[in-house]
Amino acid sequence: MAKTIAVIGAGVSGLTSAILLAEHGHRTAIFAEEIGPRTTSAAAGAIWYPYDAGPSASAIVWALETYRVLQDLTHDPRSGVSMIEQRVYSRSGEIEIPTWAQPLGARQLQARSEIPSAFLSGFAIDVPLMDTAIYLDYLARRFAAAGGLTNADVRFEKLEDVEVKFDLVINCAGIGARTLVHDPDLEPHRGQVALVPKMEIGCAIVCDDGPLMYAIPRTNDCVFGGTNDLSDDRAIDPAATARILAECSRVLEINKPDVLAERVGIRPFRRSGVRVERTEMRDGRAVIHNYGHGGAGFTFSWGCAREVLRLAA
Ligand SMILES: Cc1cc2nc3c(=O)[nH]c(=O)nc-3n(C[C@H](O)[C@H](O)[C@H](O)COP(=O)(O)OP(=O)(O)OC[C@H]3O[C@@H](n4cnc5c(N)ncnc54)[C@H](O)[C@@H]3O)c2cc1C
Repeated sequence: MAKTIAVIGAGVSGLTSAILLAEHGHRTAIFAEEIGPRTTSAAAGAIWYPYDAGPSASAIVWALETYRVLQDLTHDPRSGVSMIEQRVYSRSGEIEIPTWAQPLGARQLQARSEIPSAFLSGFAIDVPLMDTAIYLDYLARRFAAAGGLTNADVRFEKLEDVEVKFDLVINCAGIGARTLVHDPDLEPHRGQVALVPKMEIGCAIVCDDGPLMYAIPRTNDCVFGGTNDLSDDRAIDPAATARILAECSRVLEINKPDVLAERVGIRPFRRSGVRVERTEMRDGRAVIHNYGHGGAGFTFSWGCAREVLRLAA
């Protein structure tokens, strides 16, 4: 039966959940304090990779479900999704291919020409890359095409502030869930990136054994990262940009490029893992939570949204 549903949040979690609900015939509206480039989602890489998320038995299942949906979306040129080889490196020793990466065809890098001199070892895996400059607009358009409505600049202090005509509420507030539902388990993991001119590096390069470093070539630019600090400061830190540029240039063995833009986002890391769960609000209405994706909100997005759809039924 069709429901009247309010989705709180217009990041990747809110948009993806809202799309599936609207495309399954539910009257769905998004309410969000911030939309588009002001969200954490707009600051992301955003490459498929389970990174910086709390423990959860379902996480890899959601990630692999998402992988397949994104792989299909590569056939739609409007989506901004493409497949890219991601090379994951270690500075400290022999890297192990994670169990989940094996069925996806991950291969150990052997040739010295494939391992920049800054690293000791690495593996390669083909993964979906979402160009956020294109993908978030694609999601918003797809939601509107399914009849969904988006209301920006709306901040709720509590879930019960959602009008009573909505019989189901979906909480996709990201780090905002810390105050919206008083979840003390959420930690703000601040991330900063620098966008630099497009360059032909052929693959995405990632090293997370400290200092976090990545270079992700996209359609019109390249994302240099990154940082991961316990902080909810959204102001740009010029010293962090300087460190990012220095490390990426050192690894890629290039001169420091110009900076086109800098972005900051707050990864919603939840110590006990991503929360996808149906509960009741104080006024008796149902709420489905979908937040706490840490550094992997894009990676889990379609799997979590499908779980929301199942819980809504
Ligand atoms: C630098 C960086 C790089 C990253 N790289 C990757 C990557 O490569 N791959 C990957 O999978 N993930 C990556 N991530 C993580 C990913 O960006 C997040 O997990 C994801 O964006 C979380 O999405 P979300 O929709 O849950 O939250 P958000 O994008 O933060 O959206 C939350 C929404 O809720 C709204 N909201 C919050 N509180 C309220 C309220 N009280 N009332 C109304 N509205 C409210 C906000 O305004 C916003 O619209 C990265 C993150 C950062 C910062």
